[in-house]
Amino acid sequence: MSLADNLDSIQQRIRAACARAGRDPADVTLLAVAKNHPPETVRAAAELGLALFGENRVQEAKAKIPLCPDRLRWHMIGHLQSNKCRDAVHFFEMIQSVDSLALAQEINKSCDKAAKTMPVLLEVNIAGEGSKFGYSPAQLLAELAQINALPRLEIHGLMTIAPWTPEPEKVRPVFRRLRELKTQCEQILGAPLPHLSMGMSGDFEIAIEEGATLVRIGSALFGPRPRQDKKPD
Ligand SMILES: *Cc1c(COP(=O)(O)O)cnc(C)c1O
Repeated sequence: MSLADNLDSIQQRIRAACARAGRDPADVTLLAVAKNHPPETVRAAAELGLALFGENRVQEAKAKIPLCPDRLRWHMIGHLQSNKCRDAVHFFEMIQSVDSLALAQEINKSCDKAAKTMPVLLEVNIAGEGSKFGYSPAQLLAELAQINALPRLEIHGLMTIAPWTPEPEKVRPVFRRLRELKTQCEQILGAPLPHLSMGMSGDFEIAIEEGATLVRIGSALFGPRPRQDKKPD
């Protein structure tokens, strides 16, 4: 399968999932996860019309983004360390992986120095998996007001990575819980949150049925990722 075929098939599946859920496909954005793929792959995807890309490591993004077409938009989707906030603020138009107040404060500081505002999503570890980053729902609700008070951050919604399973139907409750949690956050903040970033190659259709507005797709689009030996940063 070529990249164009993969993209066609994903777009068809997105439309079909929207139809099942009575949603407008224009409300679901495909974010292409380019991690471990070279700039040439990004360029090929951009030529097919993709405009939004995700990276999970700042070091890799820093090397790659300057070699990609200028008009593309980039989101940080991986765990961010405090000492990488400055670069993250420079390269990304959104950080989807805010998982602590301390990190939010560091991003706020870097934004202040750069005279920028950063849209963020708060990452939630719904299933409580030890191997994953993200807030527990209780911790998120406890820190929400303090994050919202940071002047350089704009909270745009929530993000989650569901547990891996060969039967995506099994993770539907995870997506549903994230949607409910967004409603709770909206009540606390007294303002609507536009985004639910949930759904990857194996489970994006279920995520869309449960309200995803951003689906982060890597392998279904680009094929298996080239191996990476480096530690995550
Ligand atoms: C790698 C990654 C994805 C994409 O995963 P695929 O299963 O290849 O689609 C999505 N979100 C995050 C946070 C990732 O790190």
